[in-house]
Formats: sequence, C-alpha cells, structure tokens
Amino acid sequence: AIPTAFLAATGRGAQLGVLIKGPEALERLRGVDTVVFDKTGTLTTGRMTLAATTVTEGGPDAAAVLRLAGAVEYGSEHPIGRAVAAAAAGGGAEPPAALPRVSGFRAVRGEGVYGQVDGREVGVRRPREDAELPGELRSALERAASAAHTAVVVEFDGRPVGVLAVGDRLRPSSRDAVAELIALGIEPILVTGDAEAPARAAAREAGIETVHAGVSPEGKAELVAALRAAGRRVAMIGDGVNDAAALASADLGIAMGGGTDAAIGAADITLVREDMSAVVAAVRLTRRTLTTIR
Ligand code: ADP
Ligand code: MG
Repeated sequence: AIPTAFLAATGRGAQLGVLIKGPEALERLRGVDTVVFDKTGTLTTGRMTLAATTVTEGGPDAAAVLRLAGAVEYGSEHPIGRAVAAAAAGGGAEPPAALPRVSGFRAVRGEGVYGQVDGREVGVRRPREDAELPGELRSALERAASAAHTAVVVEFDGRPVGVLAVGDRLRPSSRDAVAELIALGIEPILVTGDAEAPARAAAREAGIETVHAGVSPEGKAELVAALRAAGRRVAMIGDGVNDAAALASADLGIAMGGGTDAAIGAADITLVREDMSAVVAAVRLTRRTLTTIR
C-alpha cells in the first residue's frame, strides 16, 4: 500500500516545496510531538549584517580589525562569516580581491575561524568564557546583548583586539509556523550555539518558550537524544554543519534548502523554499495521507 500513498504524498510534498527522502520519513513525521529549531539560518533568515565594530584604545583601528577578520571569514560558510566578509569587502557583492590572503585557514564548528593574515594569527570566534577582555570590548559585548545582536571577538596573535556585532531577523514564516505547530499539539524548542540574549530575543519573537543557548554541535545531538529517551518523537530543523549530528539523531531531520550540504545530507526532508509554513503543511499532509490509507 505504501507506493501509491507515498507517491501521492511526495507529489503533494513537492508542490509544497518539501523534498522527502523515503516513505519512512513520512511515517516518522506523522508521530512527531516535538520540533527542535536551530536559530541562525533556520528560525532566522541567516542573512546577517554587521551592526557594530568596536576596537580597543591604542590597538589596531576598526578598519584593520575588520579587514583581517573579513579575510579569515571569507573562507567560512557560516552566516556570521558571510556578514563579516561582506562588510570587510565593502558591503556586498564586491570581489574578495579587496581582502588580504589567508593561509592555514581553520574553521571550528560552533566556535569560529582562524588563519594567518599579514603575518599575524587571526581568530574570529565566540567570546571565551574565562577570558579577560579590555573594558571597551566588555561593554561592546553588553551592548550587543541588549540589542539582541550576536557578538564575536577578533583576536590577533591570541590577543582580543575587537568585537563585531552582527544582527539577523526572523524568517517571515517562522512566527505563524510555530503558532500552528503548537495548535497541532507539537512543542517547539529552540537550540542554538549562540548566546543567551540573542537566543531569548529570537525565541520570544517566534513564540517559543523553551530555549537552550550556548549549545555545542555535540550538545545539540545530545539534547535531541535526551528528548527521545524521555519518550518524545523529535523532529530537528537546521541548516548548518553544526546541526548535522542533531539532524541525524532525531526521529526526523529537516534541512533548510539553502543550508549546508552536511545538513541536507543528514536530513530526511528538505524545505526547498525555506518557507517554515511548509513544515506545518507537511505535518498536516502526513496526518491526512496516513489516515486515508487505513
Ligand atoms: P547556531 O546554533 O546559532 O547556528 P553555531 O553553533 O554555528 O550557532 O555557532 C555558535 C557560536 O560560535 C556563534 O554564535 C559564534 O559565537 C561562534 N561562531 C561560529 N562560527 C563562527 C564564525 N564563522 N565566525 C565567528 N564566530 C563563529
Ligand atoms: Mg544554523
């Protein structure tokens, strides 16, 4: 009985902009009672822009800090990296020719990027928990938190020299989709590697009550596993390399169509149009399809 119903459902799914990998995916989506959302690039557009650059007194100036940070971030596919590289290259579609060459580029999932530029070891990364920061940079972190921006620290040879604040906004479809999932009896949960303040702000705007911030890529997978161990049927929605493990450990992984290959590869379903309402439509579709075949 599966083939016909499955073909009908995948066909409808394609119309909705949902790419489904196999018949079991539909079966699993149907029983889902918890949806775990990644924040950046999933609940939000992932099109971040640079909102503020702060440097230390007597240290390298803002232009130098941004230029070297942008050069290293040019190798990153993370929304933060794209925002910083675009700002450093002069705003947007500019060619990277404007940026100095980087050697030894290294990206650490859920943490940041590193490389050698102009004879310095440059890092752009999440604020270190135990780090001593100059006063100007500490206040920049506080300002970013109250503006619900995401702040990253630029380091030259291990020394903090600047703070970059980037901002993002909710996908237009996120808020309604969350409300409809709740109406369908599904609990939304936000999990992010980002800090508490931007996480809480995005969750509040989307209508999500439960928030897990500052979570590593492995922590995201552990959260999904813990929810499943507690008897939940969990769908995870994400876009990043940092979400791949969580997508794979969920009952059902859902990837954003514009997301990384790692996320799409790990997921059972892809939201081709990046429209969050397709998740709700897909849940409704499976509930309908599978009741009809009985
Ligand atoms: P999210 O769960 O919101 O997608 P990530 O797990 O990708 O977040 O990243 C967590 C944190 O790690 C970011 O908020 C940032 O502080 C830092 N980070 C990750 N990638 C980068 C990057 N390319 N440049 C600077 N910081 C980064
Ligand atoms: Mg993400």
